[in-house]
Amino acid sequence: MTPKSRALVTGAGGFIGHHLTKRLVELGYWVRGVDLKEPEFEASAAHDFQLLDLRRWENCVQATADVAEVYNLAANMGGIGFIEANKALIMHDNVLINTHMLEAARLAGVQKFFYTSSACVYPQSLQRRTDVTALKEDDAYPADPEDGYGWEKLFSERQCRHYSEDYGLDTRVVRFHNIYGPLGTYDGGREKSPAAICRKIAQASDGGEIEIWGDGNQTRSYCYIDDCIEGILRLMRSAHREPLNLGTDRLITINEMVDIVAGVAGKTVQRRHDLSKPQGVRGRNSDNTRLRAVLGWEPQVSLEEGLARTYRWIEQQLRQRGSPKRPANRSRQKAS
Ligand code: NAD
Repeated sequence: MTPKSRALVTGAGGFIGHHLTKRLVELGYWVRGVDLKEPEFEASAAHDFQLLDLRRWENCVQATADVAEVYNLAANMGGIGFIEANKALIMHDNVLINTHMLEAARLAGVQKFFYTSSACVYPQSLQRRTDVTALKEDDAYPADPEDGYGWEKLFSERQCRHYSEDYGLDTRVVRFHNIYGPLGTYDGGREKSPAAICRKIAQASDGGEIEIWGDGNQTRSYCYIDDCIEGILRLMRSAHREPLNLGTDRLITINEMVDIVAGVAGKTVQRRHDLSKPQGVRGRNSDNTRLRAVLGWEPQVSLEEGLARTYRWIEQQLRQRGSPKRPANRSRQKAS
């Protein structure tokens, strides 16, 4: 990177995009952030932050003007409840965003285009057991991804490949496996399992009960946000054009995650399993063989440490939210 390289981060008002923007600015980049909304929990570090709807072609043209690198993170997405209930919306919005962003980047002469795909591209048939075999990049085909969100991600990965082959646009594609950490959505229906569990335990009394979606034996691997950002930067600097897993390969059940978070909170909680709620695939893990080979690195932050940091942040947010609101006093003063 030359000093003051110019980068665009789309989805800069969201969880990963906000952290990425901050890191790029620390590294000396000039950054334009674009999103439908400002970051929820702290101000963006971007030099230029624009509120734009990237489903619209002319906004993608505006966003990609005068930047050398594009980090395309904008997507309509959420936790399993949201993606299972909004398949048409997700496919419509995200295919428009990615299609327009790729073409606008090509026309603007962007040097490198980074696309954030997902572990949801992997075939459902390989994820039916809790003791699942970790997923290798080549397992994505023959294709049978998660309905809606997974198909859209696989299609957009493919589009990146063709833009690279046909037009020479230098693309990078990452497949994230469950990224979590502070400054992420923790309520409202779009939150992911680590944030939801931290919130539920923070709100529960010691000895109280929390609701778990499914029987809690479903398995996943989780990656802390600082490792996610480091992996993005390393992949962008690498010459690797094929999709690459970015996650940890430590498989745990949701029930085990509850135990870790309860330990951090110093609480005992009872689990009430709601089997009617969506729980996604039965098991999913990341095979990191290629990640290690390509990046010479793999995620460093332990789940215990990452969850402790995330829990403390969510607990603090809830405490602040619960504190008495001053505006009520002000309006009383006004009335008198
Ligand atoms: P996020 O929801 O926090 O951020 C996405 C941002 O995109 C949001 O701020 C949203 O407002 C913005 N956006 C949506 N529609 C837009 C539009 N039409 N125009 C402009 N902005 C729009 O999600 P995140 O966790 O930060 O995820 C970032 C990327 O990584 C997404 O592409 C997501 O699919 C992918 N991903 C994330 C995970 C994960 O575990 N967080 C896993 C796999 C893939």
